[in-house]
Amino acid sequence: MVGGGQESTAAATTVQKTDAQWREELTPEEYHVLRQAGTERPYTGEYWDSHTEGVYQCRACGAELFTSNEKFDSHCGWPSFWAPLAEGNVRYIHDRTLGMDRIEVRCASCDSHLGHVFEGEGYGTPTDQRYCINSVSLRLVGKDDAGSGSEG
Ligand SMILES: [Zn+2]
Repeated sequence: MVGGGQESTAAATTVQKTDAQWREELTPEEYHVLRQAGTERPYTGEYWDSHTEGVYQCRACGAELFTSNEKFDSHCGWPSFWAPLAEGNVRYIHDRTLGMDRIEVRCASCDSHLGHVFEGEGYGTPTDQRYCINSVSLRLVGKDDAGSGSEG
């Protein structure tokens, strides 16, 4: 794995799999959220109140999407970030389902559903935005898991 330094401005997804492949690779819950734009129940995910330092990757394809530096306690029941790791890593889709007007957030690499982004809610964050992301869409790679360096 080579980390960092990559720039991607392409709009097309780089990870393309068939529906059957996704079903094969993901658990039923992961498949429901990532590929069918489902939502996990609040306060049930593994990361909503996690403070572990590290990088949050896409559960479906491993792309690095968020870091613990931008994570904040929104107390909404889902992991919340005030910005993605980089703007090109996620894509936005206007979502008018359920009679609401929302912005859906997807992984730019594999087009999997992550959650929604809201703004202007008054949180004391640098952007006043809240990326409300499903835990099941993410995989946290802690700093200690990176395995590089041997400083004692
Ligand atoms: Zn992805």
